[in-house]
Amino acid sequence: MTPRTAAPPAASAAVHRRPTPRRAPAARPASPFGFFEASVVRTARLGPSLVRITFGGERLGRLAGGGRDQSFSLFLPQPGQSEPVVPVGLGDGWFAAWRAMDPEVRAVMRSYTVAAQRPKAGEVDVDFVLHGDTGPATRWARRARPGDRVRLLGPVTPENKSVGFRPPAGTDRVLLAADETALPAVAGILAWLPAGVRVRAWVEVPRAGDVRPLPTAADAEVTWLVREDFRRHGAVVDAVRGAALPGETWGGAYAWLAGEAAAVRALRRHLVSERGLERGRVAFSGYWRLGASEEDLRTEALAGAA
Ligand SMILES: Cc1cc2nc3c(=O)[nH]c(=O)nc-3n(C[C@H](O)[C@H](O)[C@H](O)COP(=O)(O)OP(=O)(O)OC[C@H]3O[C@@H](n4cnc5c(N)ncnc54)[C@H](O)[C@@H]3O)c2cc1C
Repeated sequence: MTPRTAAPPAASAAVHRRPTPRRAPAARPASPFGFFEASVVRTARLGPSLVRITFGGERLGRLAGGGRDQSFSLFLPQPGQSEPVVPVGLGDGWFAAWRAMDPEVRAVMRSYTVAAQRPKAGEVDVDFVLHGDTGPATRWARRARPGDRVRLLGPVTPENKSVGFRPPAGTDRVLLAADETALPAVAGILAWLPAGVRVRAWVEVPRAGDVRPLPTAADAEVTWLVREDFRRHGAVVDAVRGAALPGETWGGAYAWLAGEAAAVRALRRHLVSERGLERGRVAFSGYWRLGASEEDLRTEALAGAA
């Protein structure tokens, strides 16, 4: 499995949503995705490894997230640019045009989750993992200041393919396993689940200070796995492998897995092969891959599709 990105092209065959910009040609249905201009309103540290950046924009109130793990594509300026260079106004042609541009000029495109939104205020919150200075998005987030300009490609209707958490009707048992990149998604899923659903969740974070409350009406048991510097990524895999999950209770559960690609792949294999969960009831998504940038993954996916 390769990680997916929230933006085209599909970086994973398994779960991919393909946002395209809003357009209204006479003969075609309107796209469920549109471009939004936005700028940083404020930033707030959530813990040692995560910063919440609030974006605001005149039209941003029209971004219609479906909650849960709603993702979108974020476009960031290159160093020295005051705004991201994105070929908008081309309908579905924007992606080919963006691909054809000089990589040092075109905007950096990365996938993120809608952590919260306040449509009346035209605000969207995004929780960025600060994973060092290795990637342009984490570098940008570390230095973000009010007024910094970005663009979002996000949903204009809550019913859109960039929501991956879709338990079948009647689901009353849910398993969640994630790392810090999928913590905003786990928070969104738990906030969305109703009372009466039993949840076992495992969330791996770099530092103890990254642990935070995850409000929910569901009957949830959340296990935090604090990596600290000396532990490798993927503690969540060992934790799920070692968990008591009696088949009679959890065998028919719906599982949602997201985080580093190899860890997600190992988790999925374990749940399907060793715990007997139905393949179709395990939603999984590699949010990133150790040693590969999102750009690398996009290139790989395009080559695979060709
Ligand atoms: C649907 C979806 C939703 C996502 N939501 C969020 C979100 O809400 N918040 C969030 O922070 N991330 C989220 N991610 C993950 C995020 O898109 C990736 O971490 C992305 O690679 C970050 O871009 P970058 O420019 O910082 O690093 P890149 O340029 O893509 O990568 C540079 C290097 O950093 C490594 N790297 C990337 N991410 C991490 C990491 N987290 N820890 C350690 N090393 C890393 C790569 O392996 C590579 O070696 C999401 C991904 C998807 C597909």
